[in-house]
Amino acid sequence: MKPAGVVRKVDQLGRIVLPKSLRKRYQMNEGDPVEILVQGDHIILERYRPRCVFCGSMEDVKEFKERYLCEQCMSEMGQLQIR
Ligand SMILES: [Zn+2]
Repeated sequence: MKPAGVVRKVDQLGRIVLPKSLRKRYQMNEGDPVEILVQGDHIILERYRPRCVFCGSMEDVKEFKERYLCEQCMSEMGQLQIR
């Protein structure tokens, strides 16, 4: 992790404006979902990518009935037998 060379103040409501140069560089547009992660005493912003509800994977994730599943879990579910 390296500093982006930007210092911003948090406003009354806890908001921070991301500089246009960073938004452009990381292709963050108005309305895009951003996930807030924490690591030790660091706060990390990441473009939101849905995770599989079963295994947490972010690879090959598809939406199914308003939930997200990876292809691996979907395949394993397909092998379950209903009694
Ligand atoms: Zn999964």
